[in-house]
Amino acid sequence: MSKKSSHKINSESDCPCQSGLLFSHCCQRFLDSSSGLYPETAEQLMRSRYSAYVLDDLDYILKTWHPDHQPDRLVPNDSGDHWIGLKIKSTQLGQKKDSTGKVHFIARYKINGKAHKLEENSLFARINGHWLYIKEDIK
Ligand SMILES: [Zn+2]
Repeated sequence: MSKKSSHKINSESDCPCQSGLLFSHCCQRFLDSSSGLYPETAEQLMRSRYSAYVLDDLDYILKTWHPDHQPDRLVPNDSGDHWIGLKIKSTQLGQKKDSTGKVHFIARYKINGKAHKLEENSLFARINGHWLYIKEDIK
């Protein structure tokens, strides 16, 4: 599964999504397609997508993006973007039995030593039993 050796994250690392769990107990289970496991809540999917951005796992990012809303292409993270943190502000619905959910989060990243933040209220839908990212929910 891992194609890159440049990332220092392994199963014993803290999960990049900052859940406080080990990577192996958190997002790794979902990023590893051979596990057969899928996020059960919109928040878990949101976290695993963040971890996929950290690890530059573009396949996972596309796989968990609703086909009608996917970008034409995703560029590998070669520009020096460096994700440094994720904070979930709030969630609405998005539990096991829901069909939609929203996750409001702040992700931080650094470019050339300068910190930036991305704040988004994301919309998710559960389709055929699997959570997918739809798009930013703009009011
Ligand atoms: Zn995680």
